[in-house]
Amino acid sequence: MALPAVFCLWISRLFVTSITAPARAAEIAVVAPLDKILNYTIPARLADKVCIGSRVRVPLGRRQVVGYIMNWTEPGDAKLKDILEVIDPHPLFHQNHAAFYLRAARYYVYPPGQAVRTALPAGLSALDSKPSVLSDKLYRAMEREEQPQGARQREILDYIRSKNECTLSQLRQTFPAPHAALQRLVELKFLQFEEVERCRDPFAEIGVVEHFPVELNAAQQVAVTAVEDALDGPSTFTPFLLHGVTGSGKTEVYLRSIAKVLEEGRQALVLVPEIALTPQLVTRFRSWFQNHGVRLAVLHSGLSDGERYDAWRQVARGDVDVVIGARSAVFAPLPELGLIVVDEEHDGSYKQSEGFRYNARDLALMRGQMDEAVVILGSATPVLTSYQRSLSGHLTHLELPERTAERPLPEVHLVDLAQHEGESQLSEPLQIAMAEALAAGEQALLLLNRRGYAPFLLCHDCGAALRCPNCDITLTYSQVQSSLRCHYCDFHMSPPESCDRCSGVRLLPEGMGTERLEEEIRELFPEARVARMDRDTTTRKGSHHLLIEQMSAGEIDVLIGTQMIAKGHDFPAVTLVGVLNADTALNLPDFRSAERVFSLLSQVAGRAGRGDRLGRVMIQTYDVDNYALDFVARHDYQGFAALELSQRQVLAYPPFGYLVNLVLSGNDETKVNRAAEQISVNLTSDTIDAEVLGPAPCLLPRLRNKHRVQILLKAKEREPLRRQIEQLQRLRTQLPAGVVLTVDVDPVDMF
Ligand code: ADP
Ligand code: ZN
Repeated sequence: MALPAVFCLWISRLFVTSITAPARAAEIAVVAPLDKILNYTIPARLADKVCIGSRVRVPLGRRQVVGYIMNWTEPGDAKLKDILEVIDPHPLFHQNHAAFYLRAARYYVYPPGQAVRTALPAGLSALDSKPSVLSDKLYRAMEREEQPQGARQREILDYIRSKNECTLSQLRQTFPAPHAALQRLVELKFLQFEEVERCRDPFAEIGVVEHFPVELNAAQQVAVTAVEDALDGPSTFTPFLLHGVTGSGKTEVYLRSIAKVLEEGRQALVLVPEIALTPQLVTRFRSWFQNHGVRLAVLHSGLSDGERYDAWRQVARGDVDVVIGARSAVFAPLPELGLIVVDEEHDGSYKQSEGFRYNARDLALMRGQMDEAVVILGSATPVLTSYQRSLSGHLTHLELPERTAERPLPEVHLVDLAQHEGESQLSEPLQIAMAEALAAGEQALLLLNRRGYAPFLLCHDCGAALRCPNCDITLTYSQVQSSLRCHYCDFHMSPPESCDRCSGVRLLPEGMGTERLEEEIRELFPEARVARMDRDTTTRKGSHHLLIEQMSAGEIDVLIGTQMIAKGHDFPAVTLVGVLNADTALNLPDFRSAERVFSLLSQVAGRAGRGDRLGRVMIQTYDVDNYALDFVARHDYQGFAALELSQRQVLAYPPFGYLVNLVLSGNDETKVNRAAEQISVNLTSDTIDAEVLGPAPCLLPRLRNKHRVQILLKAKEREPLRRQIEQLQRLRTQLPAGVVLTVDVDPVDMF
């Protein structure tokens, strides 16, 4: 399965030699808020050091900044400045990656240099950051028949001859202190060597599980064959939507597809929602790959800067067959990419919500197109945009309609909270179901999408709630931490003794958070072993992993958590899933709220009954007639999608229209409002094909002490939006000092 080592070295050498400078000037993406690429001349002393993908130091005005070489050019008549220094010894990406990064930056209206910086591993942005490169020696036997004198020299030489070539670190594993013998063999011209990079082991900490080979069922086989056929033909962009219900065995389809692309001599990229939240998946992949001798790199935020740099370089050299990573791995510099898998493509974490606001799912398609690769988007609840693309034939639809091993999907019941007023947070039917599951020795998951003890502290004398001084939002109360905390700006304080406004002392927690639910469950079921999984309990490294291991080992009976517990976990002993309150998410003022609720609840429901026993799901709501909940209860994705899509079409919302959200923010409210007014007037007067909605206060009108106003651009086609965005580039330069404009193309949250 693995490529022969010789072949990989060949790729990496090809990669290195094809990129040194043939020209006298270079196009450079500088790390600065500039929307253009700048040209610089290459001084003779650097001519054999610069490559496409090199990080360099260049002058910009009176400053010096980091830049990345994106392409070669000729200086022409223009008076250009010189590149000052090549920072790293090796390039960070290849020409096709440069083209991809630039296209992504253009698409998301983000300065190209800053986009490239975001794409690269952290720690490579500052001028003075130089990841240490560990060096190694690669030994090769010279063509000679005779043998050296010394027995030890002979032994080592035979070993190297049998392997073709061998690095010093590999040799050390077999021969203790081989240095003197190697040196002698080089002097005697039995061996030659070259300096190469050595890599640290980036994922030594993750365990391995045994992988049991399974026989594909009919639906899996159809899917695998379709992907294999696409990979067999000449390389062309072929995107698939793998729509498989929870527990239908999508992972197995990914693995077989990856095996196929490796056979074809190309590489694979696997995107997963958040590595820290999906250790089971990573472990499964890793175990399978190890058994097949596949060289895998896992890019995740737990790596040190040095480890990340190593992994990145290994990928760029072509020494890695498969990359697994969260959203930023979409930029990984695989030289011969043949397959991209986006697992759980509906997951919100694929969208970066700050700075370079890219969506890795959409970029996976862009990259697949540029690299002529096969792309598989997989989910039980595809985003409606992807589903619509499959209906219109832009994605090939592959379906896994049933769970593996003939396991049924769980029964879903809606519990009308109006009929259970005054009971505890757990309605009677849910309590009974819990008691039954616990008595049978089964596990339960409880979803409550709110962490902390309570969403706010309310003064029972004057009715004031404690709010964040920087953001227009109530402070979440945590009893465990004895604090009030803002989840947006991280402002926190100890709970006060009395109300600021009326000095009353009856400050009481209102509403329900995961902490409070945990307390209640412990009271109701004192025998049960209860644990909680949310951002508060999983901040420490490894704590999330530990919870998952305890669940798998049956050491927890009831796991309470926020949406984290809905993510792809496979706990066969879970037979009951309870949703405490479906309404909070349903009532968000966002055209996607029904889609989100459908997806979250279907995913969490999908955690029930994955083992031998039938699963049950109880969803508590005041809104039992809600259509989204009804479709969840019937496991009817198609029905939900058809209804939701028809509504979107009427309103020209995505996927039948395109959105760009503009947010203006600043300390001075009047200035922000005036700037927003100005921009909206300018945009309106210039366009007929696109609507300009607003300006209006953002849903969070004050965040981290900035006033925020938004303008939403909406159009049926992309083209008019493109034209408006070009306008914006000009308008941006006219903004008053202290007002910042952020552009969010294809926004997913509009807070
Ligand atoms: P999904 O990602 O679609 O929710 P998984 O890939 O996690 O589903 O598969 C669910 C379970 O089914 C896993 O335990 C997996 O090992 C098992 N499985 C996958 N394919 C088969 C098969 N063909 N026959 C039996 N079990 C299978
Ligand atoms: Zn705040």
